[in-house]
Amino acid sequence: MNYAIAPAPVTSLTVEGIAERFPVNRIFCVGRNYAAHAREMGKDPDRDPPFFFMKPANAAVDAAAPVGIPYPPKTANFHHEIELVVAIGKGGKNIAVDQALDHVYGYAVGLDMTRRDLQLDARDKGRPWEFGKSFALSAPIGAVSRAAAQGHLNEGAISVTVNGGARQSSDVTKLIWSVSECIAYLSEYETLEPGDLIMTGTPEGVNAVVAGDVMQGEISGLSGITVKVTA
Ligand code: MN
Repeated sequence: MNYAIAPAPVTSLTVEGIAERFPVNRIFCVGRNYAAHAREMGKDPDRDPPFFFMKPANAAVDAAAPVGIPYPPKTANFHHEIELVVAIGKGGKNIAVDQALDHVYGYAVGLDMTRRDLQLDARDKGRPWEFGKSFALSAPIGAVSRAAAQGHLNEGAISVTVNGGARQSSDVTKLIWSVSECIAYLSEYETLEPGDLIMTGTPEGVNAVVAGDVMQGEISGLSGITVKVTA
């Protein structure tokens, strides 16, 4: 194949315990999937169907080792959202809830970094969220833990600290929509493909970071991440 210009490089993530890398296709993100976070965003938590937004593949940053991400332009309110990330290994559509985990390659710790001021301005004007959510290098993600090697992840503490101070702390059991339910629901609307990632939503405690801050994200059972915000 000859391309008229150089094709974009494949964005990929480290996989725990093997040399091969996980190639990132699309990144689907669940909005408001922990009740206490929905409340802090001024919304009523309920069992309304989940909703999704997307980030481009080049949002993903391999954070298997400590990494820096630049403070993005055009914001004065750059927020961390710690999230469980699900890596899809097998595609499919109209996936049943009880079959959904068969499609999971593995799990990782991720940050859905958000230009909150731009997101809320768009939200309040009924506009798309892209400028707030869908920018390059906005999703540092740790090493992918393979389900085949380490099993599935249905529970466990999830947290992020900034410069050692507590910010977000919850448990994956508090997801309103489980990993299986998110996969099943999403696959009714879009055929899932290998390499897709699902960021499953963030618990309460989202807050701003500034250049120089160091975020440490953890989910018990997974490799943690250390991400510095650079100028
Ligand atoms: Mn999020």
